[in-house]
Amino acid sequence: MPAPQNDARRAALVKGASRAKIKALVNLGGCTGCEVCIAVCPVPNCIENFGDDPSNWGVYVNYDICIGCMLCAKDCPWDTIRMVPTASVASHQTSLDSQPNHEHVVFSQPELVPEDIRGFMAKPPFQDPAAAPLFQKQNPQVPNIMGPK
Ligand code: SF4
Ligand code: SF4
Repeated sequence: MPAPQNDARRAALVKGASRAKIKALVNLGGCTGCEVCIAVCPVPNCIENFGDDPSNWGVYVNYDICIGCMLCAKDCPWDTIRMVPTASVASHQTSLDSQPNHEHVVFSQPELVPEDIRGFMAKPPFQDPAAAPLFQKQNPQVPNIMGPK
C-alpha cells in the first residue's frame, strides 16, 4: 500500500535520506511503468511517474529523499532497479541524472518532469564504474538494458 501522505512522517523519513549509503537507481531502459515501486516506497513522492500516457511510461527517484530502504528494488517485477552507492550519484538530483543512455522519451520531452529537476538534460550518460557492474545481473528478459543479454 502507498505510504500515507503525512507531512510529519515524510519529514521524519527524509531526515534519514542524507545518511543513506545507497540510493535506488531506476534504469529507464527496462522500466515498464507498472508503478509497483511507487506503491511500496515508504517515502511519499520519492518515486514519481511521467504521467498516464503509455508513450511516457517510466519513473524516477528523488535522491534527496530516498532513504535507501531497498523495498522498490526488491519488489520491482521487471528487476530494473539497482541500489547504487550514494557517492556514485552525489551530483545527481534524481535517477534521471543517472541513466546509462538518453533513449527514453523524457530526454526529448523534459517538460514531462517538474522544471526544477530538468538538470538531467545537461548531464552525459551515466557510466560510473562503481554502479555499472550492478546492472550486469539484471533480468535478461528485459530488453534494452545496461548489462549483457
Ligand atoms: S516497479 Fe520497476 S518496472 Fe515497475 S515502474 Fe517501478 S521501476 Fe518501473
Ligand atoms: S530505496 Fe526505493 S523504496 Fe526505499 S526510499 Fe528509496 S526509492 Fe523509496
